Amino acid sequence: MPTNNIDSSQLRLDLLARLRKEYPRMCRKWFEDIDVLGISNGSVIIYLQEEVQLNYLKRRCKNQFVEAAQIITGHLLGVQFVNSREIDQNTSPGPFNSLRSVITDDVFGDMLISPDYSFDNFVVGPGNQLAHAAAVAVAKKPAQAYNPLFIHSGVGLGKTHLLQAICQTAMQSNNSMKIYYVSCNGFLTQFLESVQDGEMADFRNKFRAFDMLIIDDIHDLSNREQTQEEFFHTFNTLFQSGRQVVLSSDAPPTEIPNLEDRLTSRFSCGLVAGISPPKFETRVAIIKKKAALRHIDIPDGVSNYIAARLDQNIRQLEGAMTKLQGLSLLDGSPIDLAMAKMAISSGTGLKNTPKHLSIQDILDTISVFYDIKLIDLLSKRRNKSITMPRQVGMWLARHHTRFSLEEIGGYFGGRDHTTVMHAIKSVESKKTTNDQFDQDLIKLQNQLSLDIE
Ligand code: ADP
Ligand code: MG
Repeated sequence: MPTNNIDSSQLRLDLLARLRKEYPRMCRKWFEDIDVLGISNGSVIIYLQEEVQLNYLKRRCKNQFVEAAQIITGHLLGVQFVNSREIDQNTSPGPFNSLRSVITDDVFGDMLISPDYSFDNFVVGPGNQLAHAAAVAVAKKPAQAYNPLFIHSGVGLGKTHLLQAICQTAMQSNNSMKIYYVSCNGFLTQFLESVQDGEMADFRNKFRAFDMLIIDDIHDLSNREQTQEEFFHTFNTLFQSGRQVVLSSDAPPTEIPNLEDRLTSRFSCGLVAGISPPKFETRVAIIKKKAALRHIDIPDGVSNYIAARLDQNIRQLEGAMTKLQGLSLLDGSPIDLAMAKMAISSGTGLKNTPKHLSIQDILDTISVFYDIKLIDLLSKRRNKSITMPRQVGMWLARHHTRFSLEEIGGYFGGRDHTTVMHAIKSVESKKTTNDQFDQDLIKLQNQLSLDIE
């Protein structure tokens, strides 16, 4: 154990209290399981056993923990998140000396998995029963139950949640299995990058070696011929050697536009399960589940009120809860029906998605939000005050329109697809490390009446 003269248990209490106050949206109930082991080599060593939770801390909470640790101790400290696997692997003589290298060499690599998305946290109702049962079967018996498993639904109805739950459950029950979860855009980006860098062999070796490959939002393959071709071969290699493939999409295979027939037929050859919008009782149960998870006290009357008024998708429900949580922290008063009425009638974050968002809408909103001229957004200027909003605009266009990377680049001042790809990556990474930035993205999406990413 590291030696130091700071009281670890007091530091732990102070850290958690401060984070809950400053970053309530980031905090989770399981933060209670966090331990502070001490201080070693200028870093507070934060211990948490569950791999997925640990990964959440590393990706989403690093800056916030560092800030809190520095303020509480008054020292310029760093933070390291570890579990016993990482401690065991650290064989060097001084404790935690080589921890840094172990941590970056994470088994999760570039996977972005939310510990909240587990089967335990998923409420089963008539609309998602089949998809849920199939997901559990696949997680327990990969490649034996349904292959491929294809889950489809409208936005915000639990596809990503189920896919990540499969990933986590399979990982827990089978240590040696190579499992990979990635969004279709992630697959696409990795593919384009390896083409560009002449590293196709590495790309193929990586993707064709998985025992279970889970790809979210596969409809994003629509119109991308070259990637469809590559994915077809990846799929065949995995499928023919008895490995599990799980896919999700906003439409059933036959209704994905501009998808090659050979892919449509492969996607349909296992189990295709749709999820329909949750009924009132399920919505209430989901609100309760989320409230418990996030430590929010929501009286029954309020959960019924929200569930009765918001019935499009579950992100709306979460938006309402986040707003109530914010209001209650602001007032210092508990959540009640009056507050809920106010939160919902004022509408922020609870609007429906417009059918056709144009890039012009995005440009206009960005230019007002960041107070910069449209002409600067579209210019070649590269100062930071303009580059960042421009990147946010590209990210929004990528997530909320169906334009290709090339097209988006075209709209944003004639940039090529690699610039757009780079922009999206920068936003994704900043979003996970900078809470304020993440909040801004949520505000922007609210202003555009979009479902929150
Ligand atoms: P999709 O991928 O279909 O757009 P997500 O999986 O991202 O939707 O779900 C949106 C939000 O709703 C997530 O926070 C997820 O946890 C939650 N959610 C969806 N369905 C359920 C459910 N049945 N039980 C609990 N939470 C759910
Ligand atoms: Mg999703």
